[in-house]
This record gives sequence, C-alpha cells and structure tokens, in this order.
Amino acid sequence: MRWSRSLIPTLKEDPADAEAVSHKLMVRGGFVRQLAAGIYVYLPLGQRVLDKVNAIIREEMNRIGGQEMTMPVLLPAELWQQSGRWAAIGDEMFRLKDRNKRDMCLGMTHEEVIAWIAAKEVRSYRDLPQIWYQIQTKERDEARPKSGVLRTREFLMKDSYSLDVDAAALDKAYELHRQAYCRIFDRCGLRYHVVQSDPGMMGGAGSHEFMVPSAAGEDQVALCGACGYAANLELAASRPLRPPTPAWTGPEEVATPGARTIEEVAAFLRVDPRLTLKTLLVVGKEGPVLCCLRGDHALHERKLLRVLGEFRPAHRDEVQEYAGVETGFLGPSGQRLPILADEALREGVYVAGANKPDTHVRGIVPGKHFPARFVDLRAVLPGEGCPQCGTPLGVERVIEVGNIFKLGTKYSVPLKAVYLDEAGQERPIVMGSYGIGPARIAAAAIEQRHDKDGIIWPESIAPFGVHLVVVNVKEAAMAGLGERLHGAAQAAGLEILFDDRDERPGVKFKDADLLGIPYRVTVGTRAVRDGLVEIRRRRDGQEWALREGEVTPRLQALFQGG
Ligand code: ATP
Ligand code: MG
Repeated sequence: MRWSRSLIPTLKEDPADAEAVSHKLMVRGGFVRQLAAGIYVYLPLGQRVLDKVNAIIREEMNRIGGQEMTMPVLLPAELWQQSGRWAAIGDEMFRLKDRNKRDMCLGMTHEEVIAWIAAKEVRSYRDLPQIWYQIQTKERDEARPKSGVLRTREFLMKDSYSLDVDAAALDKAYELHRQAYCRIFDRCGLRYHVVQSDPGMMGGAGSHEFMVPSAAGEDQVALCGACGYAANLELAASRPLRPPTPAWTGPEEVATPGARTIEEVAAFLRVDPRLTLKTLLVVGKEGPVLCCLRGDHALHERKLLRVLGEFRPAHRDEVQEYAGVETGFLGPSGQRLPILADEALREGVYVAGANKPDTHVRGIVPGKHFPARFVDLRAVLPGEGCPQCGTPLGVERVIEVGNIFKLGTKYSVPLKAVYLDEAGQERPIVMGSYGIGPARIAAAAIEQRHDKDGIIWPESIAPFGVHLVVVNVKEAAMAGLGERLHGAAQAAGLEILFDDRDERPGVKFKDADLLGIPYRVTVGTRAVRDGLVEIRRRRDGQEWALREGEVTPRLQALFQGG
C-alpha cells in the first residue's frame, strides 16, 4: 500500500484529553478518531489491526469447534424480561422504542438470544454439545468511557456460548475455551494472568478473567509467586499481617477530643493504626448495618455488595439517627444494629469508637465485646499472606481482555432452552459464556509494547509487516529502487506499507517509529551509492544491510523466525 494514497493522518502532538499510552499512540498514529464520548472510528490502520486480531480469534475458536454466526444488535425487550435482566440491568443498557411503541434494547451481551435459539433448535442430547460464537458490535452506556478504545460505549466483542447436557460437559467446554484463550493471547503477544473472578451480573458457578498487567488497567489482581494463586481483588482473599500486641487490656474508655479519623486517633493515642478498628454505617435493602474493619484496611465495595446486595454509605444525619452518635466516634460495642466484621478482626484487641462524643474505647475484642458476623470485606494489600500458602502476595493493576463464565442453567431455565435426555426426560441446557474484546487486545498490546517514539507491534497483529521508506522520492534512482522493492515484497505476499510521500526523511523516520511496524526497510543514499538496503527491526533496533535481491528473502526468513 502506498502512503501517498492512504488515509494515515499521523499527529505530532498527543491528544489533549488522553492519559493512557495506547490512547495517545492510537490517535497520534492515525489508527482511530473519537466521534463522541466512548464512540470511535477505526481508520484504515486501526481496521487492519482489528482484522488481524479477529483472524487469530476466529482460527482459535474454530479449532475448538466453535461455529460463527451473527446475532442482531437490535433486540426485543421480551427476551430480557424473561431472563430478568430487563429489570436487573440499569443505565448501562441502551433502551429504545420502535414505531409501535414496543420496548427494544441494544445488545450488550447475547445470552438471552443464544437461549432463544437453543429453545427453538435444540431437541435432544444428540444435538449437544454446541459452541456458537460471533464477533459483533456491543452497545453499553458505560458510566465512565475512558482510556481510548479500552473502555468505549460501542465496541466489538467476540462472544461465544457453550451448550451442554450437564455440568461435567460444561467443564470440558470451559477448559477448551481456557486453552483457546491462552493461545489467542499468546499469539497476540500479550503477557497476561488467568485469575479467578466474580461472576457479577452474569451469575453462574465459576469464572476466570484474562488480565494484562498495565498501569492503564482499571482492575487489580492479587498474585502469589509461589503457588500460583491469582484472583481479582474483587474476591481475592489473604492472611492479614498480624497486628502488634497492645500494651493495654480493656475495655477502657479514653478521651480523644476532636480525633475522628483513624490517623487522628492513632496519632493522638500513639498506637499503630493496625490496633484501631473503624466502623462504617451503610444502608442496605434491609436497613442500616455496621461494618467493622481494621484501621489500616480498606473496604472493598464489591465484597460488601455480595454480602448485602445494593447498599450505600449512610449520610451524616443517618449516623446520628440510627446509631445515636456523630461520625468519628461510632463504634460497634453497645450498638443494636446488625454488625458485619471483616475476617481480619477475628484476631486482636482494638481501639474503637465509644459511641460518645470525643471518646474511644480500647481493649475491644471483636466477637467478645460485640456480636458480629465475620465476613471477608477488605481489599487485599500487597505483602499480605497468600490464602493458600502464606507467601506474601503481589497486587498488580491490569486490563481485562477476556473472561470465561460457567453460567449453568441461569438463562436456559427462564427461556425454556431444554433438551430430551437418553431416557426421554426434559432437562435444561447447561450453558457457558465467554468474551474477548479485540480492541482491548490491540490497546493492551500497545500498553505493553511501546517506547518514547511510538508503538512496537507484535508481528502477529501489526497493521503491516514491512514499512518501506524511500528517503527522497525525487531522486530517480532511489524512487526506482523503492518501486522494485515494493513490487517484490508484494509479489512474495508480504504486507508492506510504502512511504512514497514527498516528505523530509526526519518526518518519515519519526512516523515509522510511531506506527511501530515490525521491520523498516530504508532506501537512502547508501542504497544508491553502495547498493546496500537497510532493514531495521523496530523491537530491538537490530539492522541488516543487504543487496536489493536479498531483501525480500531475508524479510520472509525473519517472519518465519529465521
Ligand atoms: P469490564 O469489567 O472491563 O467492564 P466486563 O466484565 O463488563 O468488562 P464482559 O461483559 O464480560 O466484560 O465483556 C467481555 C470482554 O469485552 C471484556 O473482557 C473486554 O475485553 C471487552 N469489553 C467489555 N466492556 C468493554 C468496553 N466498554 N469497551 C471495550 N471493550 C470492552
Ligand atoms: Mg463492564
């Protein structure tokens, strides 16, 4: 392809609103343009990258027996009403009415449609197992679209669904997907972790996420280097670091005038924050609940959500109303509200609010001095012990590029997707659901592979394999050699971008680094004078100087790993 006839609008400056590296580089490199918040145009180079990623996904899905289909984006509300998700999903779903005032929505995922097809088309155990997939546009009114194509409101997803006779068969389909996903992410050149995850709104019996370490990620995972324990922080467990032994026993009230926060109380009483206990009042569906955590621990909202369902922090006046004390001096002892205490509080003796102004009480033993239901509420901190083997855990920021869920019969029961077993008995189909975001793969690859000059694409998903730069197209000898090299590479089936623009060499080399195509071939003075064409590898700067006829064979060899 000739640059002079292509749409590759590179920019010198980063877009003003961009923070993530992938966002900056995809815009600067002319891969994408933002049309509106979280809505992107893929320009030709961006499209080529997506096509590469999708081709890899297709190959690996087909390899495990996946059959590609296309389901609509525009969906009738009935299916979602039957599954219960019409009511369960909030503002994330785009809803609309057709001309007859019928409720419709835009597909954010397709479990309901799959169950609908299965209800119509699958009759007996002989029709199972099945794996169906599509690579299709999803629409989600995300609360915070951000980081370029990492979180958008319209995005491509590979979603696949397995249909099986029972849980054991689902386990097999799930394992096939896990392996396919590893091959996909390996082939796309990503470093990633496979972690346990919270099934959330999908429901179901087990799930894993594929997480790419990156500062631009919105998720965090806890990892054990010794036994391999790996979990999303939403559900990761840990053995907390032991608090020091306090000098006091208790319980005994102490004056803490004006000391409300953990820092203030710890400083005023000169105690380690690990010896303090914080008490939060939240309001759940069934009313107010006290949540206690160690002073140095943070509440993980998703963990509390799993215990309580929807909840919100209490307002100031509600603390006074329900607990009879102002915030800052709230504590668990003597309260009649239900109390949840984090597991870490099973051990230790603490300073807690005394439920009186300007007063705390020290020597509090959770479970003994106040009744509590112990649950895991805290966010794991780096250095805490692995729940399986005790080794200190690491915590990393990551981008979720894919996930796999065991759905079970959550959708097949309400949508009546059943089959007849060998005994002629009607049974619900057991389903799995598996997602990958191709644009996230591309952006995550950039997050992991770039330098100060631009992108460093893995060969497998680069928009082109070769970037041919003719330093001065006005010099007939150079231009002629460029044309011949371009033709030879094309004839050999190499994907080549030919920078034939009448631009200064500096501009061309800068653009080549920015675009990050794996091999740059330079036709400059040396080529004309000494007959030597340079190949330069973007990834490590390695160079080769070759005669004209050697260039294409060498490139072919390099692509084959030679
Ligand atoms: P997240 O927690 O990041 O919102 P999710 O759990 O909602 O992701 P799924 O609904 O399971 O994700 O979607 C499957 C895959 O689709 C994700 O692993 C991700 O690669 C991709 N994806 C999800 N939401 C977006 C989005 N808003 N923009 C781009 N890709 C997305
Ligand atoms: Mg989401």
